[in-house]
Amino acid sequence: MRNLFVVLGDQLDAASQALAELDPRRDAVLMMEVDEEATYVKQHKHRLVLFFAAMRHFRDALRDAGWTVHYTEVDDRLNRGSFARELPRWIGKLRPSAVRVRQPGDHRVLRSLEEACASRKVPLEVVEDDHFLCPLDAFREWRAGRKVIVLEHFYRWMRRREDILMEGSKPETGRWNYDADNRSPWKKGTSIPTLPVHRYDALTKQVMTMVDARYADHPGETSTFSLPVTRAQALRDLEAFLTERLPTFGVYQDAMPEGEPFVFHSRLSSALNLHLLSAREVVGGALAAYRDGGAPIAAVEGFVRQVLGWRELVRGIYWVEMPAYAGLNALDARVPVPDVFWTGETEMRCVADAMKNVLTHGYAHHIQRLMVLGLYGLLLGVDPYALHEWHMALYADAIDWVSLPNVLGMSQYADGGIVGTKPYAATGKYIKRMSTYCKTCRFRPEQRVGDDACPMTTLYWDFLLRNRKRLAGNTRMRMQLKNVERLKDAEAKAIRAHARKLRQPSGASGLA
Ligand code: FAD
Ligand code: SF4
Repeated sequence: MRNLFVVLGDQLDAASQALAELDPRRDAVLMMEVDEEATYVKQHKHRLVLFFAAMRHFRDALRDAGWTVHYTEVDDRLNRGSFARELPRWIGKLRPSAVRVRQPGDHRVLRSLEEACASRKVPLEVVEDDHFLCPLDAFREWRAGRKVIVLEHFYRWMRRREDILMEGSKPETGRWNYDADNRSPWKKGTSIPTLPVHRYDALTKQVMTMVDARYADHPGETSTFSLPVTRAQALRDLEAFLTERLPTFGVYQDAMPEGEPFVFHSRLSSALNLHLLSAREVVGGALAAYRDGGAPIAAVEGFVRQVLGWRELVRGIYWVEMPAYAGLNALDARVPVPDVFWTGETEMRCVADAMKNVLTHGYAHHIQRLMVLGLYGLLLGVDPYALHEWHMALYADAIDWVSLPNVLGMSQYADGGIVGTKPYAATGKYIKRMSTYCKTCRFRPEQRVGDDACPMTTLYWDFLLRNRKRLAGNTRMRMQLKNVERLKDAEAKAIRAHARKLRQPSGASGLA
């Protein structure tokens, strides 16, 4: 055998350039399910079903297409349980001249593969992953020489590079950005289309049974699993999004109606991250909807910005900044992940609703991740890497390259301003404006001390008091810090005391 081509669980793309360059007569594919990936943080059952079922379907599709696919299922007797130990077993058995892999989505996995190949003295060739629109070398070039990273700069560069919604070097509609037309608060009575319901075949059901038995004590229930596990199912989700939800995507992008897990979001992240869908076809689909008059420019531009802008940007940052990035903790946050992040039990309606989504679906939409759970973690001072690990356990779409910059960078400001220029710190009043939670919550978002004080609001002021020295040099924080200076000593003391109470195991946060 010439090449042994390792396909990881988040690389399920049969049309990839890397596969096209191989020859099914001389090269073979290897896919490995390993227990270490399922248990290094106790993963949500939806995440496990998603990966194992999607991998097994992909294996079968490759075999049907004429490939030789070697495959270890997680409960195979000979499975050694980790990439570092399973890959050498296969190299020993198959004796390839070289091992090839697309750029993995996780720095730790890349290191494991390198070590495994080195231990067997077989060269490992890491090739570009053409799922992504921005090759890593191009990103490095863009990044070089820039003092700060600004999404808008990267996004415009990508628009020009890909010639998306452009007329020459100018945006074709005269505007780069439709943020001002988007992001309205929720309007009562708005009806939300339901997501497609997938019928799962025997293979997927078998995976569910295996996950129920083998990972019984992991969070989540397989009975509520609803994600696409094949390309056909992913395409159905994409089509339904483009026709039914995209037109209203922008308007309610930041809205949080209680009891609505998906609002008008696409819920395409897990299909994208496993590469069942390509970034190019998702962006192309949104552009086609605009050209056909199926969706307004504000919605389409808002969606394209997420996929072409944010998604590509955080991946570039991950690979440029790793491995040092994982250890950053600019605000010296040390609090353990609170119990409520596992149980969802709290009187705070906003946190309870977001956690219900996470526990039921392995999903929460962006604004719940950033401005409810992320905000709560930031204000409490939760250890950012521990929060990322929690995220890797509970979200079906979490892959290291996307979770780490979003959790540690965007939401916790632990990178000191690489991903975002300032911490996303806000009081409960922001949540009141964008959600329906506060109406039925026992806390009052305007109140910062006392029994009825909203924990978000108390912790916001406490956060600024604790971090005012660290944030003093940040010009974008000037207004917020000025307001802190106006607090009387007695008020500041009362806030600090109340915040300390909230951090107690019996407080709203239910810290362990
Ligand atoms: P939509 O709202 O419909 O957005 C469309 C697509 O845009 C998404 O599917 C996603 O591919 C892309 N996108 C949007 N924002 C981002 C972003 N900030 N970074 C990367 N891609 C983006 N996304 C993940 O895919 N995996 C994660 O593990 C993840 N962790 C996050 C953690 C935190 C704290 C935050 C604030 C964001 C995180 N995101 C993550 C980004 C974003 O929240 C999710 O991509 C999105 O909520 C997924 O739902 P959706 O498909 O309905 O997205
Ligand atoms: Fe959340 Fe505070 Fe609103 Fe309650 S009052 S839902 S805790 S923001």
